[in-house]
Amino acid sequence: MIILKSRREIDIMREANQIVAETHAYLSENIKPGISTAEIDQLADEFIRNKGAVPSFKGYQGFPASVCISINEEVVHGIPAEHRYLEDGDVVSIDIGTFYEGFNGDAARTHAVGSISDNASKLLKVTEESLLKGIEKAVIGNRLFDISHAVQEYVEKNGFSVVRDYVGHGIGRDMHEDPQIPNFGPAGKGPKLKEGMTLAIEPMVNIGSYEVETLEDEWTVVTKDRSLSAHFEHTIAVTKDGVEILSKL
Ligand code: MG
Repeated sequence: MIILKSRREIDIMREANQIVAETHAYLSENIKPGISTAEIDQLADEFIRNKGAVPSFKGYQGFPASVCISINEEVVHGIPAEHRYLEDGDVVSIDIGTFYEGFNGDAARTHAVGSISDNASKLLKVTEESLLKGIEKAVIGNRLFDISHAVQEYVEKNGFSVVRDYVGHGIGRDMHEDPQIPNFGPAGKGPKLKEGMTLAIEPMVNIGSYEVETLEDEWTVVTKDRSLSAHFEHTIAVTKDGVEILSKL
């Protein structure tokens, strides 16, 4: 069941998501070769708590850290670690969730560490742009898969692939609500978009094949062919004035 939110609930979700956006901005100043992913996790945890929110990934289904940090061929759900250091040329995806006054915020972005290859740089650009293409379709009267289709079309036109096994989701009092939002599929299908829907749209894009697998830590998802992967996510609200990106600073 898709839960529609009131104006007032969306106002609170905007606050939860602004904390996510501010955390991303803060971390981006600290992303450089030599920092460990555990240090990044610690910075995020302190920042979020100082804002009066809780990092919602911590303990979620047993996840052991406050944010997910996934490097290079890691797609999502990477676990921060003390001796895992960022290196020049890496791409690092950081996914952040907050819980604030009863509601969730959720957004992800992939950063370049130092100077990265042209192809890696294209991957980041195309992934972020595909997210924006999807978001543009999140208007009243469209159907859910119009979002999915727009993402897939843009990614594939640029020679990359979208991950099938992980999808975006509705968001609100629960981090994961209905509907699931694939990043692929036929336009014109799925539920009609209505005022008050709040959605986390999150393309995961690979340079090689879309196939993924999970490492032995039972969390870290990697590309099967070990090609680079990127992840951008925003939480948005469908309103009668158009789409609002709640997690944009
Ligand atoms: Mg999400």
